[in-house]
Amino acid sequence: MLSHSAWVLFMRISKSKFMAGHQCPRRLWQQIHHPERADDYGAGTEFTFFQGHEVGELARQWRGKGVLVDFENYDVRKALRQTREALEKGARRIYEAAFLHNGFLALADVIEKKRDGTWRLFEVKATTKAKDVHVPDLAFQAWLMCKNGLDVSETGVIHLNNQAVWPDEPILTLTKNTSDVLPLVKAVAKEARALARMVASTEEPAIDPGPQCNNPYACNFQGHCWRDIPADHVGVLPRLSVSRAAQLEERGWLRVADITDTSMLSETQVRWVEAMQAGKPRVEANAIRDWIGSLGRTVYSLDFETIAYAIPRWRGVRPYQQIPFQFSCHRQGPGGGLTHTGYLHRSKADPRRDLAKALVEALPGDEPIVTWNVSFERRVVGELADLFPRQRKALKGIQARLVDLMPIFQKWYLHPKCAGSASIKVVGEAVLGAEAGYGDLPVAAGDEAYVAWHQLVFDGGESPLADALEAYCAQDTMLPIKLIAFLRRVI
Ligand code: SF4
Repeated sequence: MLSHSAWVLFMRISKSKFMAGHQCPRRLWQQIHHPERADDYGAGTEFTFFQGHEVGELARQWRGKGVLVDFENYDVRKALRQTREALEKGARRIYEAAFLHNGFLALADVIEKKRDGTWRLFEVKATTKAKDVHVPDLAFQAWLMCKNGLDVSETGVIHLNNQAVWPDEPILTLTKNTSDVLPLVKAVAKEARALARMVASTEEPAIDPGPQCNNPYACNFQGHCWRDIPADHVGVLPRLSVSRAAQLEERGWLRVADITDTSMLSETQVRWVEAMQAGKPRVEANAIRDWIGSLGRTVYSLDFETIAYAIPRWRGVRPYQQIPFQFSCHRQGPGGGLTHTGYLHRSKADPRRDLAKALVEALPGDEPIVTWNVSFERRVVGELADLFPRQRKALKGIQARLVDLMPIFQKWYLHPKCAGSASIKVVGEAVLGAEAGYGDLPVAAGDEAYVAWHQLVFDGGESPLADALEAYCAQDTMLPIKLIAFLRRVI
């Protein structure tokens, strides 16, 4: 049996591993030497992979007939053999062609032979534009194609067009980037060899967490690498730029508690420093009292759950357009009595018509409707109003009643445990304690909600999923009611 270090020497560096190392060599090293350190993928990440596969299939239909190399069960030898056979038979378009050179492996999404005998190389991405990060990705593939005797003369990214309306307009488009990619091939080859030497070592690269941890992708080793970073690291201050955080660290102020001079911070950041250093809420009582007074005694609380498909499911929808499939609404009357209404769409049909009708019925009158981060709800209601002329007046009326609770906890009631966060869950737990917790709910986050709904409606999911969705969305609208009650009590 091979020792671990010998196995590392013999292993292949795939394109995805190269890209992990390109983002951060330590990320690649950990993938190979300590995969058990990786954070679990959330439901949203799995769904992103699923959408990526769907876009890959659509891209093959869009480009047309070609040989599809089979990479089932990650059988590299079979994929290499099928690629070789396709090339020998003169295939002019191959999907998922496999190329291996000195232990480096790439599967090219689309390659097409040109009349002059050179090749086009296209990468399919479920993004809405070609990005800088796609350049080294393509350069790595072009390098391996070249090493296998294929001359690449053109490269590009096939991606989604989020302005195209499905199904009347083509939702895929191609952005060529040959002049960026081909000059980079040599440098990428050099970098790949350096990464291979790096992973052959048992010594972990000494790289500190930094901006690379979320750029261009969220690294899945943050749980490990960030484990010693204090909860009140200066980076938690809202809207603190990377350069300003570095300036604070250069002065030896790693934690908010260390900061002794706030002159380089914004007014909001200074308020957070004061709250966190004092260890108690920083309260602007008069401003909160005025805001509470403006609400009156009857208040609604509203929240939508939405899903954004890369490939739209319904006519007239654009790629990644947020489509509401559920809402929850709590109403607290003048005497404190609570009522709850909601809507959960349960069929494969476009949810918006039935949801808009239910929304108008759920929100009569002219009392304020509290939301958390109002711009989102305002946009959803506005789009429904534009779509359904008969409901337009009522929906515009609802839109005009929307108010935002979030800024109160960003400006006037700063709880030190929130450490600058504007998340309703963080604020709820800091202010209300366990009463606000989502811990016991089977669906407890926005990404879990849209994945559960997709399973419920498109994958024949079961009714417990519907119950879980209703419980989660109801919690999202109960929390603002509780937070407002809390503010009324303490002010
Ligand atoms: S969390 Fe940051 S430092 Fe750690 S491996 Fe990932 S990118 Fe590198």
